[in-house]
Amino acid sequence: MTTQLIGTWQVRCPMGDVDKVQGITLQHTCRKEDCGMKVKEQDSFWVVCPQNGCGQTDQVTGLVKSHRCSSCNKEMREDDYKILNIVSHVTKLIPGSQ
Ligand SMILES: [Zn+2]
Ligand SMILES: [Zn+2]
Repeated sequence: MTTQLIGTWQVRCPMGDVDKVQGITLQHTCRKEDCGMKVKEQDSFWVVCPQNGCGQTDQVTGLVKSHRCSSCNKEMREDDYKILNIVSHVTKLIPGSQ
């Protein structure tokens, strides 16, 4: 299945800009002026932890309705979520301080 984000997430573009997306996100174009990069690369998104002082960035693939931060272990999706059964795969982790 094509990777998609369900709900409200912070996504990071390949240049390091962070945007918020809502609803069902199949692809997103960075909103920063002079950037305009596609956020989804090789069928995966980079999502940024919204928790205060965390900022961890995790790579997610699949049908992403929920994701636990690999650093602080809190939910990375920003809005209320009720469907927790389908959890994404974390295929790779990188530090948020990249
Ligand atoms: Zn950008
Ligand atoms: Zn976190």
